Amino acid sequence: MPSSEIVERVEQLRRSIDYHSHRYYALDDPEIADVEYDAMVRELAELEEAHPELASEESPTQKVGSAPSELFAAVEHPTAMWSLDNVFSLEELLAWGKRANRILGSAADFYCELKVDGLAVNLVYEGGELTSAATRGNGRIGEDITRNVRTVPSVPSKLPNSAPRQLEVRGEIFMPTKAFENLNDSLVAAGGRPFANARNSAAGSLRQKDPSITARRHLDIFAYSIGSIQGRRFRKHSDALDYLIELGFAVMEQNRTYETLEEAYEFCRHWESRRHDLSFEVDGVVVKVNDLDAREELGYTSKSPRWATAYKFPPEEKTTLLKDIVVNVGRTGAVTPFALLEPVRLSGAIVSQATLHNADEVERKDVRIGDTVLVRRAGEVIPQVIAPIPSKRTGKERKFVMPTHCPVCDSKLAREEGEAVWRCLNSRCPSRGVEELFHFGSRSAMDIEGLGYKAAVWLREMGFVSDPGDLYSLSKEQLLQLPLFGEKKADQLLDSIERSKQAGLARVLVALGIRDVGPPTARLLADEFGSIDRIAAASQEELTAIEGIGPIVAERIRDFFASPASKRILGKMRAAGVVMEHQRPKIVRGPLTGQSFVLTGGLERWSRDEAGRIIEAAGGKVVSSVSRKASYVVVGQNPGSKLARAETLGIPLLDEQGLADLLDV
Ligand code: NAD
Repeated sequence: MPSSEIVERVEQLRRSIDYHSHRYYALDDPEIADVEYDAMVRELAELEEAHPELASEESPTQKVGSAPSELFAAVEHPTAMWSLDNVFSLEELLAWGKRANRILGSAADFYCELKVDGLAVNLVYEGGELTSAATRGNGRIGEDITRNVRTVPSVPSKLPNSAPRQLEVRGEIFMPTKAFENLNDSLVAAGGRPFANARNSAAGSLRQKDPSITARRHLDIFAYSIGSIQGRRFRKHSDALDYLIELGFAVMEQNRTYETLEEAYEFCRHWESRRHDLSFEVDGVVVKVNDLDAREELGYTSKSPRWATAYKFPPEEKTTLLKDIVVNVGRTGAVTPFALLEPVRLSGAIVSQATLHNADEVERKDVRIGDTVLVRRAGEVIPQVIAPIPSKRTGKERKFVMPTHCPVCDSKLAREEGEAVWRCLNSRCPSRGVEELFHFGSRSAMDIEGLGYKAAVWLREMGFVSDPGDLYSLSKEQLLQLPLFGEKKADQLLDSIERSKQAGLARVLVALGIRDVGPPTARLLADEFGSIDRIAAASQEELTAIEGIGPIVAERIRDFFASPASKRILGKMRAAGVVMEHQRPKIVRGPLTGQSFVLTGGLERWSRDEAGRIIEAAGGKVVSSVSRKASYVVVGQNPGSKLARAETLGIPLLDEQGLADLLDV
């Protein structure tokens, strides 16, 4: 006898599954993600298998869908409609195929179809005319939605004269992704509640009392089987679908036949990674035995055919706890709220943050701190909070209040008329910088490989990095939440960040992005002062005493080190162990000792950096701006304004050859 806990658990699962089936099938308003529903069904099936005495015909594991809603007239299907069993891995797919082959005694070939995420319909044609369209309902009895289905342009209402007298066609009615997004935009704009996903929007649009609403919803259909047909027999499922195309039905062009399940699995994996290239949502691949006689032999369980199974893609949606809402200042100054979540695994990554777009959206969706929310991470799209689940509220949830001031520089936030986004208008707000971050990792600065512009945008938009100092506390889990990073790339970026700690003081100075402090000035500062603390403490006089640093640059350096934002960045870098000292170079004695050079324009023989190193190796100094103290200005291709200034001040000019002569190289 099973223990009372097991009996209790089975009952609890059945109650819960029935409740969620009703919300999903009858109300088109699920409260949990599919993966959570599937997990309950699996657990129940396993318990029933382990304890056969608990089995019941009334169990949701034995029934298709849910009872049809009373809003529509009931229709009995001429032939029963079924659910599908699921597999989640190659092993499970192979095990399913092995069972099928054992029953058949020979190897079957397999027909693979994308599993469109919509609503199953049964279309009955009599004498070539569409006479009835019904939802699947409980598999035997569905809801009469004929008037609604007639408004879907791709459902043929009349078939060619050659059509059979009696025909039952099964297909999936769906809403293309674009239409779904447009519909949600307009629902939200009208103050309504958006649909959680394209499946719900298709089902909600189709199961309307008023067919004129359905007509406006841009629904579409793919046919995937013949339920019954008079006067014709097919050998293969693929032949039946070819016939449906002849009759004018749309069949998915991606469908393929394979001889082995390994190939079928390749097809599954291919579409798993490309699912977002399609213009409609799919949640898996249906693998079907192609031979129709073989299907008859295989037959059905109480709920699904044994001749087909659905390979389910990893979930893109799950529910989780929204722990807090904080704001992030984006690269254009946009201050956007985002959610801190109890981490969940989605599409193969752990997601702990998700965007909430803007304050109005938080208000409209009525997302509260402490809510259980539905989160989605799909393709290259940033993870987003789709909706709260109000029925899970305990009363302890708090409304989010949009700050009135920038969380970084404390300037008052502003919002243009008609705009949803609040902005920090302070163009020098340190939080603004995607550019700042990108520059920090650039070659002449910390040289962080993998920190491209796109990565910088993502890191900031996700709130993982609010200034470059945060790079040093990034975790792999965070990187894996961005679609740009797989395991390998994440490791590479983290290695590169680690290596950058040794880049040296001059590079740190360049990386900090102080206006007019490029590599030559940074080197001068590093050589002269030897540590970031000494540079930060240097007076205007001490700075201008350095050849190549004028009063304006000196002021910028001082302003930079005085700002609290810079102190914060430096504090984080110091804590992470970034080297910010510099061994002053031994004074090199050489032919250019005591002479200073300004470089302008491109050189052919050397890069500017190389030329600088050669000059320094010969005892000379490279300075970035032209002053009376400069010994020479080296002029390359397309020189800048430094040439004019050198001419005004009468500084001797050198071309590339002149420099080579001087260096004797
Ligand atoms: P199913 O969705 O796993 O498979 C059967 C359905 O697949 C068919 O009825 C048909 O509509 C569809 N389909 C799409 N393309 C097809 C193709 N090419 N060939 C054949 N069929 C195709 O089974 P189900 O019984 O409808 O329901 C289970 C699904 O519904 C699960 O994904 C489950 O997570 C979800 N669900 C979710 C909740 C929830 O609360 N989130 C509740 C109930 C059900």
